[in-house]
Order: sequence, then C-alpha cells, then structure tokens
Amino acid sequence: MIIQILFMPLLVFALAGCHSTGPVQPPLATQAVPGNPIQTFETIAPRDLYHEVGPLETLWRISQMYEVDQKAIMEANGLKDPSSLAVGRKLLIPAAQPLRPIIPLYGTRAWFYIVIHHTATEQGKALAIDRSHQRRGFVDGMGYHFLIDNGTLGKNMGQIEVGPRWIRQENGAHANAAGMNERGIGIALVGNFSANPLPEAQLESLVFLVNALRNHYGIPLSNVIGHRDVRGKNTECPGNYFPWEEFKRRLPRGV
Ligand SMILES: [Zn+2]
Repeated sequence: MIIQILFMPLLVFALAGCHSTGPVQPPLATQAVPGNPIQTFETIAPRDLYHEVGPLETLWRISQMYEVDQKAIMEANGLKDPSSLAVGRKLLIPAAQPLRPIIPLYGTRAWFYIVIHHTATEQGKALAIDRSHQRRGFVDGMGYHFLIDNGTLGKNMGQIEVGPRWIRQENGAHANAAGMNERGIGIALVGNFSANPLPEAQLESLVFLVNALRNHYGIPLSNVIGHRDVRGKNTECPGNYFPWEEFKRRLPRGV
C-alpha cells in the first residue's frame, strides 16, 4: 500500500527553479501542497515586506509562499544567482500576497509516524532553533522536520516552517526512542502547552500539515502521536494542555 503510494506517478508541481541554498542538493519534491493564507482576517491587498531566509529555503519556495515571481524578487534585491541565497538574509518581497504554507512532499523515502512536540519556549523560529541545535552538536540542524510558529521573532502566528532535515529527507533528532527519529516525521509547535492553551491558528496549521503528510505517506490516525506517547520516553511533550480530542476530531479516520 505504502509502496504504491510512493511510486505511483505524482503530479509534478513546477520545480524547475528549485535550488539548494546550502552545500547539499536536496532531493526534488514530487509534489508541493499549497495551503490557504493564514491571515485571512487581515487585508488581502498585496504589500511589500521583508522575509528572512530560513535554513535551506529556496527562492522558488519563497516565491510560492508569497505568490510573487522569482524574477521580481531577484530584481528587488539585486540578486544575480537564485541559488546563492544566504541564510538569515532579509529579502524584500515586492507586492507580496498573504503568506501561505508550501509543503514539499517527496517520494524517495517512506514515513510511518507523525510525532508532535512543543518547544516548551515562549518564542521560536526555525533559524534560531536550527542554530541552537547545531550548537548542541546536531550537525544536521533543527531536529524537527517542521515548525509551526506562534507569531514571535518576526514570524506569523500559525506559519509553517519547513526544516532542513525535511528538505534533505534525513532522520529527525526529536524522539530518540522506538526508532521514531528514523520512522517518524517530527513536528514542533512553538510554545509551552504545559503552561498555556494551544492557539487556534497553530491548531489549524497543524491539522493542514498533518493532513497533507498523512495523505501522501498513507499514515494511519493511530500513528499520529505525541512525543509523550513514544515508548521509552518520559516527557509531558507536547504539554498537558495540548487538545488531543479536538485535534483528532478534525482529522479524517482513514487515509
Ligand atoms: Zn518533544
């Protein structure tokens, strides 16, 4: 079943301009799922804004996130080579549409579980976590595959950031037990849900992301778990206020 899903011909979503910003050329995604803008309550008029380049973020993906032509971004920033984007650089995005998530999906590797975490911090963004995990000795950077932001450190509430390990289709470093780093996709929500409730915008983004991943990899509902459910782990993560019932209610039973 899973083999079939992985190798059936998939819709190829124009990826010609997809280049790595790091030394490793990532595998090409066979599909990229765009979501709805996360700020539907805000003005939908295009506006100029700055975007900080995250780890392994490409000009192609950034252009899709804001629905702005790659050429327009290159011109606005005097960029000659789209593959030379420096991590942390602030790019001017001219006439940006409201930010929407773009989730790259790959057919090169099977994933069997989705493991949900919280960062247990008030603030966070992928670039900061990537750097701090590298300092802690994780040479491949941020241990989670995805991060869902909480509106701190310049990120939007509910913004989904794609981590470099997902782009390279590498093992995670988020749940070192029961083979979960090898078999599970790690998603972290920025926040401390042992102390605070989960904001609705983060829950909505989590549901969208988990649905996209479950559909592509054929992951059953029973394999969508919290860090605390991993055998051999003694942790509260993602926190006692994480709304498991409501979250599971919004996910389809079958895939
Ligand atoms: Zn955790």
